[in-house]
Amino acid sequence: MDEVFDVMILGAGAAGLTAGIYSSRAKLKTIILNEGVVGGQMILTDEIANYPGLGLTKGYVVANTMKKQAKDFGCKIKSNVKIISLQLEGAIKTAELKDGRTFRAKSVILAPGGKPRSLNITGEDDFKGTGISYCATCDGDFFTGKELIVVGGGNSALEEAVALTKYATKVTIVHQFDHFQAFEHAVQEAKKNPKIEFIMESELRGFYGNRNLEKVSIEHLPTRKLTDKKVDGVFIFAGYQPNTESFENIVELNERNEIVVDADMKTNIPGVHAAGDCIVKKYRQVTTAVADGTIAALSVAEYLRNQE
Ligand SMILES: Cc1cc2nc3c(=O)[nH]c(=O)nc-3n(C[C@H](O)[C@H](O)[C@H](O)COP(=O)(O)OP(=O)(O)OC[C@H]3O[C@@H](n4cnc5c(N)ncnc54)[C@H](O)[C@@H]3O)c2cc1C
Repeated sequence: MDEVFDVMILGAGAAGLTAGIYSSRAKLKTIILNEGVVGGQMILTDEIANYPGLGLTKGYVVANTMKKQAKDFGCKIKSNVKIISLQLEGAIKTAELKDGRTFRAKSVILAPGGKPRSLNITGEDDFKGTGISYCATCDGDFFTGKELIVVGGGNSALEEAVALTKYATKVTIVHQFDHFQAFEHAVQEAKKNPKIEFIMESELRGFYGNRNLEKVSIEHLPTRKLTDKKVDGVFIFAGYQPNTESFENIVELNERNEIVVDADMKTNIPGVHAAGDCIVKKYRQVTTAVADGTIAALSVAEYLRNQE
């Protein structure tokens, strides 16, 4: 393919779509290549309550609105692609897809986001999809009238536990510490919900059952006592890891495999920027991903002007 884009964005979550909105609006010829469903983690979020200017809004609605905005400004979006090779050095960067197509661009913004962190304990791989889930929005309805465990103590765990009470008869939150890391309002919302119970200072040690998950083993950390608990489903919100495996040895990553960027979202390679949950940072939210995507697109525009 001879077409050369000004900007090629890898990832169509909040960061990538925002970068797409800004660069296509600036009349830069822009393409987004996305390895999954457009919207990224916003699709996994039942409701987003903290995005300024929007009231309580479904995650998929925010995602679809961002996608429409980008497309209306002329941004091309290819989803569910598989990138098999990436060349980021030099004036023209290329991405080769599994289906044989190759895309070329003068600059690249990496926005691959992150994925749920596994607990890596006995039975987790066996019961993924038959009792274990990482997405309340996707799978909550399967557990209507059932008892659930939610693992985690951050905002996602507490907010999604509340969302799951729409379906489940009871939700038990299992958390390793004696306090939560979530914002206070999320903690209070969970605490006042009569369907939610808490098991603190405890960790899951294993998942057991026949075809479907039937019980879990829980260790109370201070006493090291193991208890079995019958359960129909477990939702795990134990943090995220960046989707940067395919960028190892291509751009600079830190020890947590996050992409190293400066304040303008520049990586160590000229013309290559990064944005969103994949970069080195402490707070991962839609607002921060959107901010990163904005800065990356504006900085890329400046890079392209300087190349002329
Ligand atoms: C359950 C849950 C609830 C949350 N609730 C909230 C909330 O209420 N408020 C809030 O502000 N934030 C919330 N967050 C966090 C927020 O959703 C994320 O911080 C934000 O959406 C990250 O956006 P992103 O664009 O960086 O990455 P992502 O959303 O992860 O998008 C990255 C995209 O890139 C694709 N991709 C991956 N690898 C590649 C590759 N190599 N090439 C091309 N494409 C690739 C992925 O498939 C994905 O579509 C929540 C997250 C979760 C999981």
